[in-house]
Amino acid sequence: MIESSLQQLSAALAAKKVSAVELATLFLDRIERLNPALNAFITTDRERTLAMARAADARRAKGPGEHCGPLLGVPLAHKDIFCTEGWRTTCGSKMLANFVSPYDAHVVSQLKTAGMVTLGKLNMDEFAMGSSNETSHFGPVKNPWDTNRVPGGSSGGSAAAVAARLAPIATGTDTGGSIRQPAALCGLTGLKPTYGVVSRYGMIAFASSLDQGGPMAKSAEDCALLLSAMAGFDERDSTSLQREAEDYSRDLARPLAGLRIGLPKEFFGPGMDDDVRAAVAAALDQYRQLGATTVEVSLPNSGLSVPAYYVIAPAEASSNLSRFDGVRYGHRAAEYGDLTEMYCKSRAEGFGAEVKRRILIGTYVLSHGYYDAYYLQAQKIRRLIATDFQEAFKVCDVIMGPTSPSVAFSFGAKSADPVQMYLADIYTIAVNLAGLPGMSIPCGFGTADMPVGLQLIGPWFGESTMLNVAHQYQQATDWHRRCPPIGD
Ligand code: GLN
Repeated sequence: MIESSLQQLSAALAAKKVSAVELATLFLDRIERLNPALNAFITTDRERTLAMARAADARRAKGPGEHCGPLLGVPLAHKDIFCTEGWRTTCGSKMLANFVSPYDAHVVSQLKTAGMVTLGKLNMDEFAMGSSNETSHFGPVKNPWDTNRVPGGSSGGSAAAVAARLAPIATGTDTGGSIRQPAALCGLTGLKPTYGVVSRYGMIAFASSLDQGGPMAKSAEDCALLLSAMAGFDERDSTSLQREAEDYSRDLARPLAGLRIGLPKEFFGPGMDDDVRAAVAAALDQYRQLGATTVEVSLPNSGLSVPAYYVIAPAEASSNLSRFDGVRYGHRAAEYGDLTEMYCKSRAEGFGAEVKRRILIGTYVLSHGYYDAYYLQAQKIRRLIATDFQEAFKVCDVIMGPTSPSVAFSFGAKSADPVQMYLADIYTIAVNLAGLPGMSIPCGFGTADMPVGLQLIGPWFGESTMLNVAHQYQQATDWHRRCPPIGD
């Protein structure tokens, strides 16, 4: 059962071969047993989970009908960046260590309405800042393929939980690669939608012009099913796009003959490890066998994406995180002399080192005299990067390359050098700056038998095409079915 796809779980529930309560119990027991070694979950609450499962079973007991959608009774877990009513929502920070959300994020309420059962809240880098999960106040998540290695970040808890089969599927968020990079490092399929497709309401803000929620799953097919329920217009998010609802599963079965794959020459230069290069090359061969053709494209400004991102994202973060002052939100220092000291001590105690670094950078680049030199320049680069992609998509349907330059690295390997850590997202960040949809799918194994991810990038609103391209590959290969040697 723990290996089942969402479709299989959904069918078993519909056929009453298993109840939602039985399914939730199965996963809760597994979490209890295996989570201590992985630290993927920050919060579980058996009673709350079972109450949701009982409600799902009661809904099904009313007989067939519209109230029994495909996700009714299917369990999932949420990255702890999504506000969940009645549950602790920490965002991986001491600042919010005791915050119990009074309301649900849009994504959470959509999935609740669909009848999904929440298994718990997943560990993450503090305020989603990181690529290794080492910045979490709740301790690092371990990669289930090798517990001496990082799971990636910031959605490392989501990736580890699904890879270790502690949850059939999870939500994640991606500001610069945080769905795709941990998916790659843990051997999963993850999708970051086009900016504006999934509402950010109730998703604790890091960099609002880049943040986007999406599914992390075992397969493209599962991603499609969850995305169809997560996406949709929400008037509470001013950047939510008013579009017709889509069934993201609709194109899965389409053959790939005639597909044009763009290979950006900048993604295949130096900087990528040989094991990753070999696995990506083999995946491209597989695509050629499936009838696709490859064409070289160029993204001449993509080399500027990391520097531009590390101006824009900290700038937005410094503004978004000003609300955590011990008064409106968050941890308050126990002792202080006056109001200023209370603010200073609360923020000094509540935030970790990486978050403080970003707030300092962000405040600096937005300050009078530096705004034009840094922030405005970065915004101009952002536009150039988006234009590069538009040009590339004139000659191809989808872009491919590596998701991460290396397989999962060991704990501590990059944590002393922020720039080395920032480079972990060198292939993913441009996608967020351009607002495009991107995916990572498992495409083999590299050094130390660690998973390698292939990145797919689509044009705006190309989710359905990307899912089709990913699904066809997964019909022809079994990398996505490989399971780490944990627990059994
Ligand atoms: N690793 C990147 C950062 O630290 C991206 C994080 C994310 O996508 N949330 O900013």
